[in-house]
This record gives sequence, C-alpha cells and structure tokens, in this order.
Amino acid sequence: GQCVAVCPTAALTEVNNSGLVWSALSNPNRHVVVQVAPAIRVSIGELFGMAPGEVSTGKIVAALKKMGFKGVFDTNFAADLTIMEEAAELMHRIQNGGTLPMLTSCCPAWVKFFEHQFPDLLDIPSTCTSPQTMFGVIAKTYYAQKKNIDPNDITVVSIMPCLAKKAEAKREELTKGTESYVDIVITTREFAQMMKEAGIDFAGLKDDDFDSLMGESTGASAIFGTTGGVIEAAVRTAYEWMTGETLENVEFTNLRGLEGIREAAVSMGDMELKIGIAHELGNARKLLEDIRAGKSHYHAIEIMACPGGCIGGGGQPYHHGDMEVIKKRQEALYREDKGKKKRKSHENQEVMRLYKAFLGEPNGKKAHELLHTYYVPRERI
Ligand code: SF4
Repeated sequence: GQCVAVCPTAALTEVNNSGLVWSALSNPNRHVVVQVAPAIRVSIGELFGMAPGEVSTGKIVAALKKMGFKGVFDTNFAADLTIMEEAAELMHRIQNGGTLPMLTSCCPAWVKFFEHQFPDLLDIPSTCTSPQTMFGVIAKTYYAQKKNIDPNDITVVSIMPCLAKKAEAKREELTKGTESYVDIVITTREFAQMMKEAGIDFAGLKDDDFDSLMGESTGASAIFGTTGGVIEAAVRTAYEWMTGETLENVEFTNLRGLEGIREAAVSMGDMELKIGIAHELGNARKLLEDIRAGKSHYHAIEIMACPGGCIGGGGQPYHHGDMEVIKKRQEALYREDKGKKKRKSHENQEVMRLYKAFLGEPNGKKAHELLHTYYVPRERI
C-alpha cells in the first residue's frame, strides 16, 4: 500500500513496508528475525487505547512471536554494544589527542544533515554505526554462526520510531556489496497496523521475553530513546573505564530535560568531561557552527533530529506537537532504566560474550571492520 506521511525532519516521506514483512514471514525458506527500538515500548500502546508512557515491552515480544518471527530480539542489546564502541572511541580520542568534540552518530537524519551542511567537519562524528545497523551486522555474522544458518537465508526486520532509519538501512557505506544487513524497516505505526491486520488483541497479550543471544539489555540502553540518553549511557561506561572506579550513582540528572540545547560537566578523575546536547536540527546547527568557528569547548556532543529524541520520532504514534505526550514517554524510559538491575552497558553479559567469542576488544580490529563506518560529503540541500 502507499501510506504516505511526512517526517518532522521534512526530509523524507514514509513508504509502507508492512507487505514486505508479511511476504518474508510467509516464505518458508527465510529465517526472519526482528529487532525493536528502545522508544517503541513506551509509545505503541497509545495506538491500542493505552496511556502515553505505559510500557508494553512484554506484549510487543508476544505479538512478534505470534506473527511468526524466528528470533525476537532487542535493539537495546545493540545499543549496549554501541556504547561499548562509542565509549572506547571517546576514550581513545581523549587519550591520544584525537579530534574533539566527538559527536554521536546513531541518528541518520542528523548524519545526513551534517554530510550535506558541514562537509568540512566529517572527522568529528563518532565512526560507530547505529544500534539498528550493529544489530543487523551481528545477526548476519555472530548469530548466523552460532545458529548454523546461512546469513543469506536470514531476513533482518527492524521496528523503528523513525522514517530516516529506512534510508539508513540502504546507505551504501552500511551494506556489504549489494546486500543489506538490515533488510526491512517498519515504523511503530506500521507495526501497529500489522497487528491490527493479524487480529492481535495487543492490550490483552500476556508478556513474553526476548530471545537469547541478542535479547539482554541494561538500563543504559533503555534511555537511548530520549534526548540526553545516549550520552548519559556513554558517560556511565566511560567513567568506569577512565577512572577505574565503580560509578555508584548512575543518574546524571544534569544531562536530562527537554530544553533544545543543554550542557553539563561530569568529573572523571582528573578531568572534567564537558558535554553538549541538542535535539532538533536548528539547535544542532548552532553547536556545529561553534565548532566550525573554533569556539566549541565540548569533549562530546549528542544530537537527535526529532523533538525529545526518538520518543518524538516521525514513525511514532502522532503526538500532534503535544510535548506532554513526549514527556510521558521520556519519563517511562527513565523508569525502565531505574527498574533494571544492570544499568551500565558493559555489564550486559550477552554483549560481553559477543566480544569474548567473536569481536575481540571494543574499538579493536574486528570491531572496527564490522561496527564502524565513514561519512561522505553530499550535495547541499
Ligand atoms: Fe530517527 Fe528521529 Fe531518532 Fe533521529 S531522533 S534516529 S530521526 S527517530
């Protein structure tokens, strides 16, 4: 079908991919796995009469198993993996006189923006790919090996709060030859529509758990869905690695909020790590212009294109500009984090096993080959 909606970043229109997912699921020769982004569990309930911010992770898993996915996994697992790489990269840059500030790179609308508008600054974003991409790569390498499945028989489906993630999956820099690591991307709204087509009574589902190998996650990954959350997650891990001390209070409340541009300093042993945060691209532009002018004093900057971050993404249930809805979704993510026993990405046991058995060291050779990328100047828009 041709359901078309406009992205808040005004750069993209939405093409409905749910038909592609149904045909993959009905093909007995495909091993179809799925990942669900952090921001979806706090919003999709709104499309089934639940209140904004009600958390429905277990129901999402149950619905996906009913729909016939062979592996139901969590993008949060890959978000923890992203933090391992990003924190290691930040440390490496700080300790070796590398380019600073380092900018987060998990938001494809933001990546596209700087490639078009700041082609002179392509060495400042982190080279880490996004959790969506890291998941696809690990599914078609490590998971395929562990399960003894030909990677060519695996279809990776992503459920994302985002329209730009569809384009990200097709980026030439993120595909191996002509094949994608992530095959089909659908939005929160398309997923809800698919459940309605399948006659699934979402609100009445009993909670189920993600499958193992790529299903475990920490509180640090839960907050990836909100502005400020990615950098807070990175700081939790970087702090312990840089100081060698255990971080007791993991909540960096000075990084939180919904103001368009925020800044904070975090003490890490001898150094003060200076952090900038922006959401929405107009705000991001200001921070980038300061960098271009040599006036930026930050070590790390997090940028998200959508209002509030992915909780306000263009593929989410419409919030009609109501920031109260965004706030409720944001509070839910912080509650999720608080409720987790493990709240630092480097405590994720499945991620640790992945490094031990397959990747080697964070930011090491194999991790670099598989989980890092590069940026290219694009024509100005
Ligand atoms: Fe997508 Fe918006 Fe999240 Fe960026 S902030 S990844 S554009 S949903």
